Amino acid sequence: MSKAHGAESIHWDLSDLYEGPNDPSLIRDMDGIIARADSFASQWKGRIASLSPAEFREALQAYEGLMDLGSKIGSYAYLNWSTNTEDAALGKLLQQSSELGSELNQKLVFFDLEWLALEETEARKHIDAPELAFYRHYLISSRKYKPHMLSEAEEKILSAKSVTGARSWVRFFDETLGAARFTFEGEPLTEQQVLSKMHAPERETRQKAAASLTAGFRELSRPLTFIFNTLLADKSTNDKLRGYPSWVTSRNLSNEIKDETVDALVEAVTEAYPLVQRYYRLKTKLLGLDEMRDYDRYAPLAQNETVVSWQEARKMVLDAYSGFHPKMGEVAGYFFEHNWIDAAIRPGKRGGAYSASTAASVHPYVFMNYDGRVRDVQTLAHELGHGVHQYLSRERGPLQAGTPLTTAETASVFGEMLVFRDLMGTLTDPKERLALLCSKIDDSIATVFRQISMNRFENAIHTARREKGELTTQQFSELWMETQTALYGDSVKLSDDYGIWWSYIPHFLHSPGYVYAYAFGELLVLSLYEQYRTQPQGFADRYLELLHAGGSESPEALTARMGVDINDKAFWQAGVALIGKLIDEAESLAAEVQFGA
Ligand SMILES: [Zn+2]
Repeated sequence: MSKAHGAESIHWDLSDLYEGPNDPSLIRDMDGIIARADSFASQWKGRIASLSPAEFREALQAYEGLMDLGSKIGSYAYLNWSTNTEDAALGKLLQQSSELGSELNQKLVFFDLEWLALEETEARKHIDAPELAFYRHYLISSRKYKPHMLSEAEEKILSAKSVTGARSWVRFFDETLGAARFTFEGEPLTEQQVLSKMHAPERETRQKAAASLTAGFRELSRPLTFIFNTLLADKSTNDKLRGYPSWVTSRNLSNEIKDETVDALVEAVTEAYPLVQRYYRLKTKLLGLDEMRDYDRYAPLAQNETVVSWQEARKMVLDAYSGFHPKMGEVAGYFFEHNWIDAAIRPGKRGGAYSASTAASVHPYVFMNYDGRVRDVQTLAHELGHGVHQYLSRERGPLQAGTPLTTAETASVFGEMLVFRDLMGTLTDPKERLALLCSKIDDSIATVFRQISMNRFENAIHTARREKGELTTQQFSELWMETQTALYGDSVKLSDDYGIWWSYIPHFLHSPGYVYAYAFGELLVLSLYEQYRTQPQGFADRYLELLHAGGSESPEALTARMGVDINDKAFWQAGVALIGKLIDEAESLAAEVQFGA
């Protein structure tokens, strides 16, 4: 285990949701929500076509009330379980809430269907009605699903069967990796514990960690391959039933973005792969290696990386946020003051980090595994960015608070950038500056280039599963190596062991098509940050408005407000060029510094 840093005792207080799994109000809400949905249905079912705008607003408000309660129950169950995935009682509660969510969906599906069934001219009357101005964006964007919705009976069956179908497989994946132990120097460690050693300064540690993970993934390759195949086939079936032409169409639709915009982004990034290779050649030199291996990619430049205490991390993030805009600092402060963060690492806790918006009537919670490294500070800044965004957009209500994934990363990546620039400002030693700069470039490469290479992998496996049927572990590994070799060229030597490293990445299963949104968010933020740097006048206020807007406007409209055109490939290329500038900066700093000596 690593040195003490003070986050060992940072556990969240979920009592704003519920006091515990046996809280009478949780039991009451779980028992009562279906009855509430029934009375909602008896009041509105069959009537949507004949409602006045004022009545439709009343129905929408009641609908939102049910959504809010459903989210409150569902997020409580998920949050609680994710801190202890080995607790059977919490697993049971999660499953119960998932079954309940599906039952709720089935009761409410008529509402969407009746709204979508309206003829365009009828729907227009509601969309343009002043009484419904608050819901305007929701009304417009939900209509885009019209061609892909099935009948009420079919929707109910799909929803009911998904509980024991796709959703169960995803949970089985999470629990399989959560319960897995990886042997490291004779000790059984969790996936997260070993993954964190991939960032160790000592090469031997990284190499051993990589070998330990490879062995563990190989041992699990049978269930993992099976889970991947099953979920790929499940998605293919759904897409066919709903008439989506490709594996990514439904994701682009929910991201509220055109297929061509995504193509422009992917092209701009893949064309710039040589930039990544240039960086890894520099990093190989700086690390004093004769060749860079896959387990060297995240090696820090600074030896003896210092441990950042939880208190220091808290101060760094809050100072950076407040310096940008007092409101950002104030809202981020609530998370610490009211225990809305779970940061301690412990066995059975799910890996990674997230910020859960929970219910619009409550507030978000942040989940992470804090290990005292500088990158954990960046993760904290990242998740709190989400947290602030989710907190501010709650006023848009359950239907419009959430952003599509495309703009979901705006505040998180911007928050990281603020902390990074603050840190750079405090350092004077060129060696330390270079180390920090390289860690930022590492992150940007991981967020933009690695995610796009993973998008290429996703594209390959979904397409292959549809065209060739079930894939073997070997076939997955080949597609993985192909898409990864395209990215790294000869700048990183990928061992055969690396072939199995697709199998633990949760995004592929949790949210197919997700990963390009990271590249979208990072490049968008790099451009916005450049704007803030060069024309700071009024920027922070405009930016806060953007966060407040949540998902009440399309990404295209929101970013246009900031003077950005996401449909233009040149915009993405300019974002990529900013990473090139960071690499230039690193190359010139490297010329001043003797490293690896
Ligand atoms: Zn994020």
